[in-house]
Amino acid sequence: MSVSLHKSQAGNATRQTGNLTKMTQNQADNVTHLPDRTRQNYHDIEVLARLDVDELNSKFSHLTPQEVLELSIKKLFAGQIAMVSSFGAESVVLLHMISKFDPYIPVIFIDTGKLFPETIAYRNQLIEQLGLMNVQTVKPALADLEAQDNDGTLWQRDVDGCCNIRKVLPFDKALKPFVAEISGRKKFHNEVRADLGFFQKNGQRMKVNPLINWSAKELADYIIAHELPRHPLVAQGFASIGCAPCTSPVKEGEDPRAGRWRGEEKTECGIHFVDGKPQPINN
Ligand code: SF4
Repeated sequence: MSVSLHKSQAGNATRQTGNLTKMTQNQADNVTHLPDRTRQNYHDIEVLARLDVDELNSKFSHLTPQEVLELSIKKLFAGQIAMVSSFGAESVVLLHMISKFDPYIPVIFIDTGKLFPETIAYRNQLIEQLGLMNVQTVKPALADLEAQDNDGTLWQRDVDGCCNIRKVLPFDKALKPFVAEISGRKKFHNEVRADLGFFQKNGQRMKVNPLINWSAKELADYIIAHELPRHPLVAQGFASIGCAPCTSPVKEGEDPRAGRWRGEEKTECGIHFVDGKPQPINN
């Protein structure tokens, strides 16, 4: 697996690395724009970090997506949280929110080698436009590609095997240093459990779902209000955007993910397993 920063980030990231921990800690000490009801126990970060999922969800169920992000980034998992983003159809909302709190939060982008060129261009555009300073592009291991997919056609015969070497293994390795990940999952996507909360345990890692309760309209309104650019393929009917060979447009009324692996039983890439059940990557 290889990891690279976008070229416009590299110089700044090198200069800023030494300040990152300090900056995050300083921010953690400053929660003045959170409402009082969420500040009451912030003096004891360790206690909060030990809370289980049910306690977290019950204690913070009233928060807005931005407050959940702020709580997670600055307090609960300060310095130990990353976002995983596909830079897909709805990713810009969470990326924009994150850029407002801390543009140095690691954003992990898995470049499978099979993405649409429009996705790579959109990633570059958002890095520049939102000022994201720590987007880490992660690629599959060359040894895995040579051993299992040396002609690049594995997806035609074994989609699970292809997703494993191009997504799952790079994802696992990239997230190892972190105790929490930020996800863009939403309940209006049919495959997401109706009772899912802001926090989920995913093995040893905590998954944070700030947008879990937002509707498609709330996402669209946010994008319009902040004048954010859309992925260019959205205008062509792509509602969920993954690898080019395995993604097609959706018709009106179809689930947003109906265009992923169309004609196959497969519905997720294998990146997300929670409570033993496969979960999609929607961010
Ligand atoms: S989505 Fe398709 S091309 Fe991409 S990794 Fe999975 S099987 Fe391979």
